[in-house]
Amino acid sequence: MDKAPPLVHLDAQQDHKKLVAAFRRVGAKSAEELLRDVLQFSECNLKKLSPRQRELFGWELRVIGLGRGGDFKVGQMPDLVDLQAQIVEGIRQYFGPLGEWRLREVARPLRLLRVDWIPGKKPRPKVGWAGSEEDQIIAGIWDLIVSVGDRLRACRLCHRFFVARKRQEYCTEPQNCSQLQRNEWKKRGTSRKQEDERARSDSANGPTRA
Ligand SMILES: [Zn+2]
Repeated sequence: MDKAPPLVHLDAQQDHKKLVAAFRRVGAKSAEELLRDVLQFSECNLKKLSPRQRELFGWELRVIGLGRGGDFKVGQMPDLVDLQAQIVEGIRQYFGPLGEWRLREVARPLRLLRVDWIPGKKPRPKVGWAGSEEDQIIAGIWDLIVSVGDRLRACRLCHRFFVARKRQEYCTEPQNCSQLQRNEWKKRGTSRKQEDERARSDSANGPTRA
């Protein structure tokens, strides 16, 4: 079946109820908020999460990945340990020297799907991948990253990945690098504005010759 409306072909009653609830939660969030959740998931200690927290993460990820024509495992959560490892590795690659999140396996056939079954949403295009549910979730995360754009950043101090609010260049949790940096500038009698201006005039004057 080419078009797979998951709300219809799900037979497990439990899954269906949880899916609808997750749709409601995810639908109320912006791409920025969802990507923050994904980053939080990638950094958390899965062993320390309560079963309820694992379930919330799992269902949110499932909805992020839904509608790409791949498998949806009824009655079985996606492999969160494997997903976490893929996300951590992928984002690291994206910010790494190649600047490219590569899939572990070879390219999969792609399709453009017209998704017309999301409650309360007009029909919309999604790029569909063949493959496992975990693959669909990675595709969904890529969509989020594309919509968030340049606001997915690495903190200039601790290099943690975060979704910036406006011009934010430093993360604020778990350690407050934004505050740390302001303290540092204060100590050196400078400010972000002055530092930025200096960087601009440095680059305008070209690289310093030794
Ligand atoms: Zn930081």
